Amino acid sequence: MRLKGEKIPYRGKEYPIKHKYNKFRFVCDKCGRCCCDIDIMLNPYDIIRICNRLKITSVRFLKDYASITLGADSRVPIVLLNTRPRCVFNKKICTIYEDRPTNCRGYPVGRITMTDKDTGEEEAGYIVNDNCSAIQTKKRQTIEEWLRKEKADEYFNISTRWNRFITKLIQKGFPKNNEMFNFLFIKACYDFDNNLYNKLMAAKGISQFKTAEDKFNFILDNAEPLILNIASKVNFDKVREMLEKNKDK
Ligand code: SF4
Ligand code: SF4
Repeated sequence: MRLKGEKIPYRGKEYPIKHKYNKFRFVCDKCGRCCCDIDIMLNPYDIIRICNRLKITSVRFLKDYASITLGADSRVPIVLLNTRPRCVFNKKICTIYEDRPTNCRGYPVGRITMTDKDTGEEEAGYIVNDNCSAIQTKKRQTIEEWLRKEKADEYFNISTRWNRFITKLIQKGFPKNNEMFNFLFIKACYDFDNNLYNKLMAAKGISQFKTAEDKFNFILDNAEPLILNIASKVNFDKVREMLEKNKDK
């Protein structure tokens, strides 16, 4: 388990791990600098929220507002918001502010999950990014107060669940650098407004989701079986064998 006060690297600097009761100074002056030239990774919940707000489908979102790349270590497809030279939603103010994604949500506070190697027990720790001039202002608040105000915890909790799902897939031996798998993964996890999910919803008697979280939960529950199902239908033997072999792990 990492200790409070221990430093962790983040974007080329080291930051001490803080507790949610620690205070920090911050009032955003909306300069927009933190919305330029930065990697903002999106999970399905982020994409659902933005698509709902813009009333567009996931395929349109991926085409016009984001790019897909492979994780440097995991080699699993990841979705990045288009932020170069500036975020597509940065028009002096953030035009999707109430639905801005997890990585933007708590800024300048970021949450990390610390796991005890022996017990597996998890605990949240926080870092406060000090790259922004607003961090010098007089207003002080606890990290907890700030995150509550920004409604960040629900995003962080969903992000933790998503990261666990990805970790589980990697541990199960999902193939790396395999174009067919990557295609299925994107369809099942990020480009979810498709016929595969429509059929699945119809089969389960679901016409629409009440909330973005309901839709996220549906994706989380069904992405892996969906990949398996298609893999078996297209005789995608390597993927299927690997997944079947590791199914109960
Ligand atoms: S958080 Fe900081 S860098 Fe970002 S818009 Fe506010 S003042 Fe500017
Ligand atoms: S989504 Fe909004 S807060 Fe996030 S980088 Fe874009 S403009 Fe900034």
